Amino acid sequence: MSQDKIPVLDLKPQYESLKAEIQNAISRVLESGQFIMGPDVKLFEQEVAQYLGVKHAIAVNSGTDALVIGLKALGIGQGDEVITTPFSFFATAESISNVGATPIFADISADSFNIDPGAIAQKITPRTKAIMPVHLYGNPAAIAAILDIAQAHNLKVIEDCAQSFGARYYGTCAGCNESCQESTRSRITGKQTGTIGDVGAYSFFPSKNLGAYGDGGLITTDNDQYAETARMLRVHGAKKKYHNEVLGYNSRLDTLQAAILRVKLPHIDQWNEGRRRVAKTYNDLLADVPGVITPNFADGHVFHQYTIRILDGKRDQVYQHLAEDGIATMIYYPIPQDRLPIYAGKYPNNTISDQVATQVLSLPIWPELTNEKITEITKALQAIIAQ
Ligand SMILES: *Cc1c(COP(=O)(O)O)cnc(C)c1O
Repeated sequence: MSQDKIPVLDLKPQYESLKAEIQNAISRVLESGQFIMGPDVKLFEQEVAQYLGVKHAIAVNSGTDALVIGLKALGIGQGDEVITTPFSFFATAESISNVGATPIFADISADSFNIDPGAIAQKITPRTKAIMPVHLYGNPAAIAAILDIAQAHNLKVIEDCAQSFGARYYGTCAGCNESCQESTRSRITGKQTGTIGDVGAYSFFPSKNLGAYGDGGLITTDNDQYAETARMLRVHGAKKKYHNEVLGYNSRLDTLQAAILRVKLPHIDQWNEGRRRVAKTYNDLLADVPGVITPNFADGHVFHQYTIRILDGKRDQVYQHLAEDGIATMIYYPIPQDRLPIYAGKYPNNTISDQVATQVLSLPIWPELTNEKITEITKALQAIIAQ
């Protein structure tokens, strides 16, 4: 048994490496006294738009708000249906329900954990207005096939990028059996997730790949109209102060968080590379472990989570025994969204999502996780499986 415990995520190495710069940024905002919509917010929006390669970036209070405001900017509400994945954090479906629309769940591919374009087509009705794919665990969804479906049925696409900051689409979509048009695929290859559909929604929750030191979120779009609406909605529905036009929200990114994110943004590619190194090392070390399925190492995948599948009903046992060995792991997600109490009994089975929820286990991952620790984790895992 190992002496020192291994957490599922360690944010300290990153902070240590940027401590002086972050403290300077914080002091600068404190001295300026401009805590709401200070200059750092606009500068962050410009810098992040440039990094992502998108026309508009609108900073908001959280990833959840980015989804809600993004849906509203697209004009989605009462009576509309939005097709999404059952296998995600509840904020995905919650945002759809919160604007008065109905989430419709299309099953996933077990190989990518992402929505299966083949399952989307079967869920389209005259009420369908949009598709909301999630690039789960940082793995780009099969977005070319999704765009083709959206175009054929005149649907909007809003990408949930809460877990995929810095991920790019390269057309390597494990488990997607749908054909996509070559012209679609080549047009979007190399693009950042969140800049491919009509709207992208990001989260800067501290544990995300680009994390703030509090809540934060971002809406991205190339469409001027959606951007204008989103900017208005984040400040109480007013384009001009005290001239409120519609019901909006108080959903601004704190200046302090914007200043911190500006320090972190230039490092994101290097951190995502670190995550890919960790994932590759795990994949190599776990390749021949019976009953363990390692994740697809897709190009552009940024491994927000490193998630394996454990077969033969052993997942809970492995989770428990690793915890006893001092190794923390997580189950994202034990209950698919369509099975949550709020929606219970309302939806037909999504058999793959239901099954995958009993198999997934996310192992410790952060950019600075050492090969030594990865080896310790995989050895412990192997020993438990062999029992
Ligand atoms: C974290 C997350 C969200 C919500 O982001 P918050 O900033 O916590 O509101 C939405 N969707 C997914 C897939 C997430 O992982």
